[in-house]
Amino acid sequence: MFLVLDLLLRAASPLRLDGQVFLSRLWRVSRFVPILDNSYHPIYEALIGMADERAPPVYEGAVYMRQGKTYLVNSLDLSNKIALCKVADLKYYTKSRDCTDIEVVGGKIDSSNLDIKLNVLSSRAYPAGVYNNQCSRTTARVNPCKVTTSWFGFHRLWRRSNEIFDTVDLVLPKYSYMSQAVWVPVPQSTKSAVEMKNMDFRAGLHAASHALLNVVPLRIICNSSDLAPECANPHDTRYFPERILLYDQHPGGIGVSVQVQPFFMELLTSALELLKSCHCPGDIGCPHCIQSFACKEYNEVLHKDAAIMIIKGVLDAES
Ligand SMILES: [Zn+2]
Ligand SMILES: [Zn+2]
Repeated sequence: MFLVLDLLLRAASPLRLDGQVFLSRLWRVSRFVPILDNSYHPIYEALIGMADERAPPVYEGAVYMRQGKTYLVNSLDLSNKIALCKVADLKYYTKSRDCTDIEVVGGKIDSSNLDIKLNVLSSRAYPAGVYNNQCSRTTARVNPCKVTTSWFGFHRLWRRSNEIFDTVDLVLPKYSYMSQAVWVPVPQSTKSAVEMKNMDFRAGLHAASHALLNVVPLRIICNSSDLAPECANPHDTRYFPERILLYDQHPGGIGVSVQVQPFFMELLTSALELLKSCHCPGDIGCPHCIQSFACKEYNEVLHKDAAIMIIKGVLDAES
């Protein structure tokens, strides 16, 4: 977790503590900490938010929006995980440049551990009863995976036009965690067929994973943040695996991918129906079918018609 602090320095004061003593105190309290200056006017550094380190919206130069206010992040103390920012009236916003790699590491999910997790899960929020993959007949696989996010900079964009006017490089430590993924390989013949039609195969895979994610609630009761799709980065030219993949967003995995696995083909069929029945443009799609709020790449690199071909190809290979 990163703490995001709003520097409201009302006056110079001997009690304006420089950093560690005050900040570490604030870290422990995690609430507003009022401090009085020697003329008894309140000055304080206010806690304005907590940012998850899995997707930090904070880095030096970032524009951070919260409750209608715009803040500019002045500094980021990685060792103490504290970001200092101040209110700013800006005509631009920032967008991080990052990519997330999913490495399926193979092996089987430890089912004893998973049973415990699922019991905890069902006792808290989700009804039990859908976890039964013992008799599933599908080529969809569920494996442990390593999720690694790398940040390598950010863009500044005008608020009015969304036009990028500045690109900044920065180095932040990578963030990795182990989780669980459910996935199916896409046949090479399908890849060739998509490319023969001059459609972007990578965009089709990306769109297919979004469509699959959008229909998961038809069979599995889970929170929208429990699962994530494998998203294609628009600036990444590296090899992109030929598969449709969803993974548990929570470190360690909470068993949602395992629950999806027996229904994978059924969900793909539903996703195909969704795509074919949606009358939006055949490339960029719409929020009803291939666009997703869970997308880490802002719904770039999507192609609905390619996704339809890919899902059909997987279902044909399965039957
Ligand atoms: Zn649509
Ligand atoms: Zn995406």
